[in-house]
Amino acid sequence: MIILDGKATAQKVKSELKEIIAKRKEEDPSFNLSLTVILVGENPASQVYVNNKIKACAKVGITSGLVSLPATVSEQEIIDEIEKLNNDDSVDGILLQLPLPKGFNESKIINHISPLKDVDGLTYIQQGRLYGGKKQLAPCTPMGVMRILKEYNIELEGKNVVMIGRSILVGKPLFELFLDANATVTVCHSRTKNLKEITQKANIVTIAVGSPEMLTADMVADGAVVIDIGINRTENGLKGDVAFDEVSKKASYITPVPGGVGPMTIAMLLSNTLIAHDLRTKNG
Ligand code: NDP
Repeated sequence: MIILDGKATAQKVKSELKEIIAKRKEEDPSFNLSLTVILVGENPASQVYVNNKIKACAKVGITSGLVSLPATVSEQEIIDEIEKLNNDDSVDGILLQLPLPKGFNESKIINHISPLKDVDGLTYIQQGRLYGGKKQLAPCTPMGVMRILKEYNIELEGKNVVMIGRSILVGKPLFELFLDANATVTVCHSRTKNLKEITQKANIVTIAVGSPEMLTADMVADGAVVIDIGINRTENGLKGDVAFDEVSKKASYITPVPGGVGPMTIAMLLSNTLIAHDLRTKNG
């Protein structure tokens, strides 16, 4: 069994990016990459994620901005902040940290982000581009999954991929990316019957549910590749959606939690910021 090391792969992606940014700056001293995060309310997990994103920006040479708004802010005030950033030529990427506090219409607000600055790939335009075969900016977690599979040369063409979870942030875009890679993809969700029978047939299983250690050894075939996207804070610390100890005995490759898909997500966010910059400045 081989551990798919997300930390090391993310580090590699970030080092490559750092080099590209440094080279661009050398060629053009006015070159600057910038990402602004909008954080609404005081969700402690979101605060940690935002801090990690800002720290990661600094490490590769991306300028970051943080717009911190109280949970009592109105929907229009968030939209006004987004519009300001849309119109600010020095901002390449805008990320609205999710989830928003209860009561906000997330998709309405997200869709005010300029699609060319939508580094989370969640506007209808970027979703449509992905599903229409014209990908520009795709969601970071699914991109991170694909990147780590590539790093370990895991063949996808013709493989049976079974995904558990169909959210717009993870499952649906990941489905499209696997399909693009010519895998045969089955998507399972909360209404799926006989989940175990389906997952047992998979060459590759991905899970993004948010249920600690839900995928057990009896659900996976010998030699399967297992990608654990779940992040669950439990009394026993951070756990994925995979019962790692038992599943890792059957898997050929497996991502750990922490240290698997999580770090990849941040690395892909940084790389999406460069893509966003180039989209706006090179092609418009
Ligand atoms: P959502 O809650 O939006 O989606 C969960 C999905 O799981 C839904 O499609 C749901 O089905 C499905 N589901 C729920 N219960 C079951 C079940 N018993 N059997 C099969 N499917 C089930 O979550 P997200 O996609 O946003 O996140 C999922 C997990 O991934 C979370 O733990 C989150 O923290 C983590 N995550 C990790 C990231 C990373 O960087 N590593 C980034 C984003 C998320 P249905 O559609 O029918 O409701």
